[in-house]
Amino acid sequence: MDIECPDCGALHWMAEKTYKSPKSAPRFSKCCKEGAVMLPAIKDPPDDLKELLASQDQDAVEFRKNIRCYNSALAFTRRLRVPRFGFTILRWEIRFA
Ligand SMILES: [Zn+2]
Repeated sequence: MDIECPDCGALHWMAEKTYKSPKSAPRFSKCCKEGAVMLPAIKDPPDDLKELLASQDQDAVEFRKNIRCYNSALAFTRRLRVPRFGFTILRWEIRFA
């Protein structure tokens, strides 16, 4: 994977280029459909989470060590279905003992 999509920057193999594009200027459809789909930039995480992701203190290191467990434990609890208004995203706090 060393060929960058000229539209979105995703990395591809040359074999993934579209049939009609030349090897000298490859285009790709699996990532952004040749620039037809552009997603908004990812927002920065909240300050508390940013601290946990970057700090070297014991709580932050412990959080990163177990981040997959926290994510799995909360994966099904993030959304609450409110029939009349659709989905509402709940806010959760992770507290260390
Ligand atoms: Zn692309």
